[in-house]
Amino acid sequence: MFLKGKSVIVTGSTSGIGLAYAKAFAAEGAAVMINGFGDEDAIEKERAALANTSGAKALYDAADMTKPDEIEAMVKRCHDELGGPDIIVNNAGIQHVAKIEDFPPEKFEAIIKINLTSAWYMMRAAVPYMKKKGWGRILSTASAHSLVASPNKTAYIMAKHGIAGLTKTVALETATDGITVNCISPGYVWTPLVEKQIPDTMSSRNMTREQVMNDVLLEAQPTKEFVQPEEVAALAVFLCRDEAKAITGANYSIDGGWTAA
Ligand code: NAD
Repeated sequence: MFLKGKSVIVTGSTSGIGLAYAKAFAAEGAAVMINGFGDEDAIEKERAALANTSGAKALYDAADMTKPDEIEAMVKRCHDELGGPDIIVNNAGIQHVAKIEDFPPEKFEAIIKINLTSAWYMMRAAVPYMKKKGWGRILSTASAHSLVASPNKTAYIMAKHGIAGLTKTVALETATDGITVNCISPGYVWTPLVEKQIPDTMSSRNMTREQVMNDVLLEAQPTKEFVQPEEVAALAVFLCRDEAKAITGANYSIDGGWTAA
């Protein structure tokens, strides 16, 4: 429980990788602030379970990552109610797949706001609190798509490459303040988001479940296995340890060899 007494905000943590981060930080004793959309009762159940695991407070904040004033208010709330934030994880993200000439501008704007601009506002609001304490950990979920491209994902790939650049820049700005800034770049992770794509792809391409998994989703992933959300979360927890204090400005691949190819 090396994070006892510390508090963490994980954006987009009502599901998938974000929820796995929240659980892993709670297991180390951190007070966790979760965020994201979803069923109210299900969120309340997760919040209560996190408090039970950590033995510390757990809060839910509904800040919409497209709205800078809500982001700033969430960070301030974490300061006022949990004494932090000591750790922030920029994780909220959405996807849309279309050729550039068919890409709806409103989808483009939403992806840039949620997947990239929100991380800038989160860091801008959290860094002063971290500087005052002389300790902080800033993490973002980037993607293999922060390093390589695939067709039909212009907005997502712009956003994820942007996260890698933002990470390096803020790491340099905070290098002597006891703060580290890193991003994690998963390949395909087994989350509800990915699971939900399978039935539609099976029927639209007349494929079996196995064909969709191996020939579509895992085509670029040499291990032919999905990354598990808990594996991503374990890396995030490691980056918060004191032993990781020299790791800053890094972009960690956890992609089954995807970007080695
Ligand atoms: P998910 O859909 O399971 O979770 C996304 C979370 O973001 C949810 O909690 C959702 O409510 C929240 N969210 C969406 N819009 C929001 C908004 N406007 N304001 C606040 N919260 C909002 O997806 P996931 O697969 O767990 O993805 C999490 C992150 O990991 C994303 O940044 C994604 O790009 C990244 N990622 C995922 C994979 C993968 O294969 N699943 C791979 C690489 C990177």
